[in-house]
Amino acid sequence: MKFKDMEYSRADCDELKEKYGQLTKQAKKATDGERLIQIVLKHETLYKRFATMSTLAEVRNSINTEDSFYKGEKEYYDEMVPVLQEELQEFLKALVESPHRPALEERFGELLFTNIEMELKTFRPEIIPLLQEENKLTSKYQELIASAQIDFDGKVLNLSQLAAYKENPDRQTRHKAYLAESEFFMANQAELDRIFDELVKKRTDIARALGFSNFTELGYLRMTRNCYDPAMVKNFRGQIISDIVPLVGKLKEMQAERIGVDKLKVYDDLFGYREGNPKPEGTPEEILAAGKRMYEEMSPETKEFINFMFDNELFDVITKKGKAAGGYCTEFADYKAPFIFANFNGTSGDVDVLTHEAGHAFAFYTSRDFELAETTNPTYESCEVHSMSMEFIAWKWLHLFYGEDAKRAKFMHLESALVFLPYGTMVDEFQHIVYDNPDLTPQQRCEAWLTLEKKYRPYMDFDDVDFYRLGRGWQRQLHIYMYPFYYIDYCLAQTVALFFWSLTQKDFQDAWRRYMAFTTQGGKKTFVELCGVARIKTPFEEGCVKGITDTAGDWLKR
Ligand code: ZN
Repeated sequence: MKFKDMEYSRADCDELKEKYGQLTKQAKKATDGERLIQIVLKHETLYKRFATMSTLAEVRNSINTEDSFYKGEKEYYDEMVPVLQEELQEFLKALVESPHRPALEERFGELLFTNIEMELKTFRPEIIPLLQEENKLTSKYQELIASAQIDFDGKVLNLSQLAAYKENPDRQTRHKAYLAESEFFMANQAELDRIFDELVKKRTDIARALGFSNFTELGYLRMTRNCYDPAMVKNFRGQIISDIVPLVGKLKEMQAERIGVDKLKVYDDLFGYREGNPKPEGTPEEILAAGKRMYEEMSPETKEFINFMFDNELFDVITKKGKAAGGYCTEFADYKAPFIFANFNGTSGDVDVLTHEAGHAFAFYTSRDFELAETTNPTYESCEVHSMSMEFIAWKWLHLFYGEDAKRAKFMHLESALVFLPYGTMVDEFQHIVYDNPDLTPQQRCEAWLTLEKKYRPYMDFDDVDFYRLGRGWQRQLHIYMYPFYYIDYCLAQTVALFFWSLTQKDFQDAWRRYMAFTTQGGKKTFVELCGVARIKTPFEEGCVKGITDTAGDWLKR
């Protein structure tokens, strides 16, 4: 089914709510496993239709934000989803508490029900007011960040517009841009501290209301961490410190030499090449066509996938008036079809969409025939393995996009993947410190961040840029405010992706087979189990990171 022919009609949420109520009653009364299975399948039909319609409304709204019909439809779902959520929770509770649960586990796999149990532990109706307050605080942070109006270069800029100047070839301009950013954050430091302090206290209250000693445990449950705990994550961070931090130090020395400065300062950090970043060749249409060719050549599976995407017009990537910003991959459950949205603008970001977002889309495509839509996607870190690994698998075809510049594009990709890991794990350790010690003062939190900076990024020289110099740099990382503990996922995924990259360097076909083994399981296995089926070390095992640094170090030297 072509995207444009997918017919939309509103999924009536009141009706759905009533049907959920009936299903919950039936599930509680089910006299045997087979009946319970039939109830789950009935729910599945309802759920898939609802998901398909609400996603269609959302996608069509993002393609043309000026279309008032889909805008209204999207608002309808935004309002109704929390109401439905309550009914859904009741239904899921009836399933996991049923004496016939073993029959469900046999038919659909045990993991889904383990995950549901974890999710149920994160909620009780009594905490609704606290959750609303948590939401209000995160919205306040977003508003504050969005309110930035910075006078710079004769213009009034927001923070993301200012960010472009942080990579400017002229060192003085970069320095000024950092100072301007710093000034905004320093002017708002009291409010930023207050919002975060309240968030930490609120989240701790929520955790205690649910019977946990602090928020860390609840944070892990919210992220459905079904196969690793804080101690394992700590071990992983330790490997980053011992194996990646020294390599990044060397990369930063190379960078200083490349851009011609004695000593790298914070305002040199994002400026990697005097000649600028590699740019893809050709028009957006040509870049898209190159993407098609790449997937046709990569494997029989990706060939089938990309032709499905093109035949059914499941892309909207060319920028046009009225389109929302950004890029994403989503799926229409009833049509078993992924969909990719982007705004091509002739930069390397266009290629990233075709490798990263298409990696997500491909993963969905391989599990589209699973009986339950809830089992197609694994937890976040594993979803990001799908996409981040695809970015590396695509190396073999980067010349189709970059021509002569492909080698430099590869270098930059590998370099940025490695440089990210210490920063990402630092964000994670910071959150453990903050939520394990909810009574820290705002000042103590900044001191903790500075100590972590020395451990994870010893090469950083903050010079006279106060915001960073005073240990406040974490306040621009929106995940710390909005999505607690959602940062290690990127680090774990990047590590596994680097592992797949190292495999492609030795034997591409073997790497591909193992990537397929990981991906085609969809959400039927945990992250650790997925690493197992792909026969790769998990990032929690000693020596995993070292293996990567050795291969990467050799490649970068060459
Ligand atoms: Zn992604």
